[in-house]
Amino acid sequence: MSVLDRFLRYVTVDTRADESSSSSPSTPGQLVLQRLLADDLRAIGLADVTVDEHGYLMATVPATVAGDRPVIGFIAHVDTSPEMDGANVRPLVHRAWDGRDIVLPDDPSAVLRAADDPALSACIGHDIVTASGTTLLGADDKAGVAIAVAAAEYLVAHPEIPHGAIRIAFTPDEEIGRGADRFDVARFGAQCAYTIDGGGAGELEYESFSADVMRVTFLGFNTHPGYARKKMVNAIKAAARFVDRLPRERLSPETTAGYEGYVHPYQIEASVDRTSVRVLLRDFATPALRDHQRLVEQVAREAAAEVGTGVRFEVQEQYRNMREVLDRHPLIVERAREAIRRLGLTPIERPIRGGTDGSRLSFMGLPAPNLFAGEHNFHSRLEWTSRQELELGVRTVVELARLWNT
Ligand SMILES: [Zn+2]
Repeated sequence: MSVLDRFLRYVTVDTRADESSSSSPSTPGQLVLQRLLADDLRAIGLADVTVDEHGYLMATVPATVAGDRPVIGFIAHVDTSPEMDGANVRPLVHRAWDGRDIVLPDDPSAVLRAADDPALSACIGHDIVTASGTTLLGADDKAGVAIAVAAAEYLVAHPEIPHGAIRIAFTPDEEIGRGADRFDVARFGAQCAYTIDGGGAGELEYESFSADVMRVTFLGFNTHPGYARKKMVNAIKAAARFVDRLPRERLSPETTAGYEGYVHPYQIEASVDRTSVRVLLRDFATPALRDHQRLVEQVAREAAAEVGTGVRFEVQEQYRNMREVLDRHPLIVERAREAIRRLGLTPIERPIRGGTDGSRLSFMGLPAPNLFAGEHNFHSRLEWTSRQELELGVRTVVELARLWNT
């Protein structure tokens, strides 16, 4: 079965993740897809396919050569973003797209235009795949899933290609930051892996943010407002001053790009008695997170002193820049570059202004940069991919299998 046909099948299963659920996977649809994928992998001829009780699928493409070879892995996630409807996805293939506007039929206000999207205009002539206008497509990351299955099928059908054992894992709940939570690195047993969850052909990502989240809590004192003179201390007013004084022209998501970090207040729980603000700290250099934390603390203490509240801080680590690990094992990224070059493409290397499962897996003992999967406009009704990019994704995996046969 072609990678496109696999992709078109996988996107019809609703696997939208749900942050409010505490089970793993967070939604039953993810398990439905995992079982279907397990059947597909068995049909290809993989013997050891398992789906564990938390919804993680693992399988092996057996080695075609005897002797010690590094075991490498490929990882994709089955869930889709909670931010957008993922039920009843109706994928549409626009064959040999001629560059004209693509109007999505279920909502004619949803239009893909070459002029607005350089990545799309670079794909004129491709078979473009979109959703129908009311849902996401789910190329993030069913493109990666389809690429991994199609590559496994190709390798099994071509035993003359020399390679060691290749592990495959499909994880749940990446979109809600839990994809690495129950990933059994020891059982996976690979020395490195590649997540297949990136953008256009040639993209290779091996730097992510380092990330902490802070809770800043202002402690006030509430009384009946009619009799509050010289008694009430309003925590909301301290929090408002605090947020207003956080940097705007620098160190904020709205004004930074590339390698710049930021502090980002994104949630407030407010009452007179107690108001807490959740603040994301992001930087590519992990030590800079401490500087951002001190800045937040200083601004908060000033606001608290002016209003007369108390203030308390909690900091929680989220993930770290995978490059800290990958720099110690340069071959992993180097071989990905080489695989991409062998397809006649130029590697496009950009820092991720966020984290991937690979950011956490890398620090759990499984170094894992991210390969392109042909994902565009993800988490959106205008999400699209192309058959040609999916096929290049399959070839990248096959080339990596060859390259690691040493
Ligand atoms: Zn993804």
